Amino acid sequence: MNEVDLLFVSAHPDDTELSCGGTIVTSVKRGLRCGMIDLTRGEMGTRGTPQTRKREAQASAKILGASFREQLDFHDGGLLTGREQELELIEIIRRTKPKLIFTPYPDDRHPDHTRAGRLVTEAAFYAGLKSMKTQYDAHRPQATIYYIQNYQRDFSFVVDVTAAWKTKMRAIAAFKSQFHDPKSKEPKTFISDAKFLDLIEARGRHFGMLIGSTYGEAFVTKQPPRVVDMIGAYGGREV
Ligand SMILES: [Zn+2]
Repeated sequence: MNEVDLLFVSAHPDDTELSCGGTIVTSVKRGLRCGMIDLTRGEMGTRGTPQTRKREAQASAKILGASFREQLDFHDGGLLTGREQELELIEIIRRTKPKLIFTPYPDDRHPDHTRAGRLVTEAAFYAGLKSMKTQYDAHRPQATIYYIQNYQRDFSFVVDVTAAWKTKMRAIAAFKSQFHDPKSKEPKTFISDAKFLDLIEARGRHFGMLIGSTYGEAFVTKQPPRVVDMIGAYGGREV
């Protein structure tokens, strides 16, 4: 784990790809360093094994251009959020010094997403407390940014990921055991249905349409971003 500009934390491997894979690709192209943390190994998944998920997750991180991807073991299906897990995250934040940290919105259909969002929000704050002594120096990201998963949210900004869309979908496809594969003999799930990838496509198009581009990824923050270039921000949306 090295220092990064953006740190993406997910409850399960593939959460980040689905919600903000395009943002990683776009950011890496702009010269930003992106790190990925999966809080669990996804061991409760209906299809595949934790070993396959790990291999798929590493292949996907490579496609996205992430500097690193680490998998923690906070228990899939009952994500642990005690002091021990909080301290492990605080150390990761202090060690990797992200300027922005991304995590699930802390209220979602899957309770692990809700727990992950809360845990990361709190760890990001505590990581900045100088009087809390750990191995690494205090560091607090500028903002905790929430990505949208199952439940619809009022979002704070949308990132244009048009140029990154194909790469994002390739990264998702790296999770062969999870998503649609007509040859697979494993039990069918909501996300293994071909229609699921259509939904991802439709959501990307919808967010893109709102900002006058083809594809977008939407995010929620507690406070709005500071816009420097208002005209640029609305470019391509002439009414
Ligand atoms: Zn998940």
